[in-house]
Formats: sequence, structure tokens, C-alpha cells
Amino acid sequence: MTKVTFKLGKTEIQALVHQADGAGLTMLNVHDDEDTSVQAGLANIQKYGGRVIELAHSGERLITFGLGGRNYSFDPNRIFSDTGIAETLKLQSAWSAEAHAEVRAFAAAYLSRFALESEPVIVALHNTMEGPFSVESFLPAGNYGSSVAEIQVNPERSKFDFFYVTNRRFFEYLKRLDFNVVLQDNERVADDGSLSVHFSRKGIPYINVEAEVRHLPAQIEMLKVVREMLAG
Ligand SMILES: [Zn+2]
Repeated sequence: MTKVTFKLGKTEIQALVHQADGAGLTMLNVHDDEDTSVQAGLANIQKYGGRVIELAHSGERLITFGLGGRNYSFDPNRIFSDTGIAETLKLQSAWSAEAHAEVRAFAAAYLSRFALESEPVIVALHNTMEGPFSVESFLPAGNYGSSVAEIQVNPERSKFDFFYVTNRRFFEYLKRLDFNVVLQDNERVADDGSLSVHFSRKGIPYINVEAEVRHLPAQIEMLKVVREMLAG
């Protein structure tokens, strides 16, 4: 494991890079409280190779940094556009031009340090809790329904375990295997600064693997399926 340090104002953010030999997946964990997803990623690279890039700072979902005598917080999955940066700073703390510039520099450094825009496909690792957020949030009546091209919900699976993809081939493959799966509408999706929107605009396929935080075996299985899908 190697550590890469980024600086945001006075605060250091680490990226832990777990790499194993072999041409495996590049998997990103950006929420520091979603450790089950990291464990699932590590199990995947131990078996098949690849890398897991994990953000480590506070153990919490949000990143908080000190600048100019105050603290700012943001969601690290909302910082890959100016619109997203402004919205997440306002929502989680406050906006200032200085804080905005700092977050934007961090986002750019993160993407370039790991050459993420040269990857053929990006896999994101997330965990859900048994709360209001689930695959059902992406149904037409749900909070995120308007950004969806197509969705499959399988009532025999946990609604907290699902894939979110930007590519129709992936959607059809995972649908055939009866997973819960959401296909992002890449035309209509709002620019929220998330990695799914960023990579879809770069033309790089993106697969978000969401599993409930206690469903480690399910998430390991989901990543195995992703690997098979990409190999096929
Ligand atoms: Zn997450």
C-alpha cells in the first residue's frame, strides 16, 4: 500500500493506494465511512489484481478542511465540476472563492495523480445503510428518478445492493443476471459534480457498486460479476 498526500488548506487528505499484480479493475472509494466496500475491493484485487484507491481522512463521509480561519466541508463525490463544488460547499458548510479554488485543485490533482481519465473503465465502491437511500430512490417517483434512462428492481434482492451504470451494455448484462441495476440518462442527468457524471462526459464507462454496509459477501460477488462482465 502506498500513501499519497493531498493538501486542502491546512488539512492533509491521504489517498491509500492498494495495488496487486495483474490487470484488474481500478476501484475508487471516496467516502471514508464506507469500509465494507473497501474490503470487497481488496478481496477482488487479491484474487484478480488491480488497484483500490481509498480516501482516508476522518473516517467520515464528508471531507472537512481549514482555510482562512474557518472550516469547510464537502462531499468528495460532488467536486468534479464547478456547479457541484459550489453546491456541496453551500450544502455542507459555506461557499467562498478561496474554498472553491482549493476544492477544485484537489479534484484535479486526484484525477491526474492516478491518471483516472486514462482508464478504460472506472469502478466506484460505495456502501448504503438501511435508510431512505436505495435502488428505489431511482424509480420514477424517487428522488433521483429524473436522471435515469432505465431501471430494474428485483424484489428478491436487497434494495440496498445495486449497480449504477452509465453504459447500456453493462445495464443489459446485469439485468440479465437479475441484479438491481440503474442506467444513468447521460443526456438528461444534472451536473452534480459526481464521478458518474464526470466520467460519462469524458466517455469513460463508470460502474458504481453499492451494497449495504453489512453485505460484504454480496459486494464481493458483485465485484466478481463486474470483472467477468468486463472480461467478456
Ligand atoms: Zn458512498
